Amino acid sequence: MSRSAHPAGPRHADVLPEGHYAAPAEDLNALDPKVWAHTVGRDADGVVTVGGITVTQLAEEYGTPAYVLDEADFRDRARAWRTAFGNDADVFYAGKAFLSRAVVRWLHEEGLNLDVCSGGELATALSAGMPAERIAFHGNNKSPEEIERAVRAGVGRIVLDSFQEIVRVAHIAQTLGKRQRVQIRITVGVEAHTHEFIATAHEDQKFGIPLAGGQAAEAVRRALQLDGLEVIGIHSHIGSQIFDMSGFEVAAHRVVGLLKDIRDEHGVELPEIDLGGGLGIAYTSDDDPREPHEIAKALTEIVTRECESARLRTPRISVEPGRAIVGPTAFTLYEVGTVKPLDGLRTYVSVDGGMSDNIRTALYDAEYSVALASRTSDAEPMLVRVVGKHCESGDIVVKDAFLPGDLAPGDLIAVPATGAYCRSMASNYNHVLRPPVVAVRDGAARVIVRRETEEDLLRLDVG
Ligand SMILES: *Cc1c(COP(=O)(O)O)cnc(C)c1O
Repeated sequence: MSRSAHPAGPRHADVLPEGHYAAPAEDLNALDPKVWAHTVGRDADGVVTVGGITVTQLAEEYGTPAYVLDEADFRDRARAWRTAFGNDADVFYAGKAFLSRAVVRWLHEEGLNLDVCSGGELATALSAGMPAERIAFHGNNKSPEEIERAVRAGVGRIVLDSFQEIVRVAHIAQTLGKRQRVQIRITVGVEAHTHEFIATAHEDQKFGIPLAGGQAAEAVRRALQLDGLEVIGIHSHIGSQIFDMSGFEVAAHRVVGLLKDIRDEHGVELPEIDLGGGLGIAYTSDDDPREPHEIAKALTEIVTRECESARLRTPRISVEPGRAIVGPTAFTLYEVGTVKPLDGLRTYVSVDGGMSDNIRTALYDAEYSVALASRTSDAEPMLVRVVGKHCESGDIVVKDAFLPGDLAPGDLIAVPATGAYCRSMASNYNHVLRPPVVAVRDGAARVIVRRETEEDLLRLDVG
């Protein structure tokens, strides 16, 4: 399996047979609740609505392309995670999936914590009033300036990713007269994706300190000796877009094994373990993700069982879902520009965005679905590829899908499940302007991240 993917990148296309095309859905006008945000439906005229507003109204007011985010759904999902894990565990939303100040406020209000992995994400979190003690700082190469800011702000934990960082954070904290709470990120040799996981002794990746060869134990040993650090636990993150919990089982077994070694060697029982994020969502109707309460139950049972057999007190668990909270809550609304049938192959549908607003298809071969949103149609299904407006033949948004055969320029189409890793990975390729994020709730819409303008582009270009 290739190791080239971003840690957030599902490659669930990997497990589909070559040349796989799902058959067209029985009713192309139907909106599968699995892949659409909770409040999405069609009105009496067949126009897609979300939060009580039609996509035609949204397109008129805010233009296209636009990410449309269902705030009620976001809050529902955040709350479901919080409730599922109860008071004995902590849920950290992974800000890299999508972060804005409105999102930070929602998380704060719903009682979640927040993972950040750069100075920019930290600044966003703090500026929107997230209490520092509820922020975790991640990353494999935090700069000394970032570390200093995080320590000064008083973040609840810094997740240490290397031997050098152990010393660096300890030194900075001590210089500032502080004792920083830290977790040590280890790699347990488990790489999980969707329906399978690979468990080996070694892991060939940039994140974390390997459990293999006693390195993780040595890292803990060193960290425990440093006055600037309070070691609160061990962190493990095993993959992305995961549906099968057995990878977590192997990971938890190995993490608990390390906790036991630490107890035996140092007489210290570390009070926390973090099992990371990576829980999958439905991008198409073929995907069957688990509910937060099932995930919470499975993870809690795994850790409890492992600790009982190691005769350890069960540590406090934390998890870091990003995609599973924000992914399903948004769709991207595009206007169709051209429809180009290629005889015997497929029809290329060009939209007014593309790889600049959704790089995941090009980067990870990700699967998406798509629906005609501004109307319904009884026309026969046609096999389409939804492509963008960029100068790149890999500029694909939806690789294979069916849309009604009468699709025409000016129609609005919507691609669901684009809440995670789309706006946050958006680019200015071809100087295309990044779309706004419009949040809708109870019949009201508001822009939470505005559309980029040509002035924005030119402001950075100082001549
Ligand atoms: C990316 C990442 C997450 C979130 O992953 P999702 O697939 O969005 O749930 C959580 N923790 C860490 C350490 C990550 O790198």
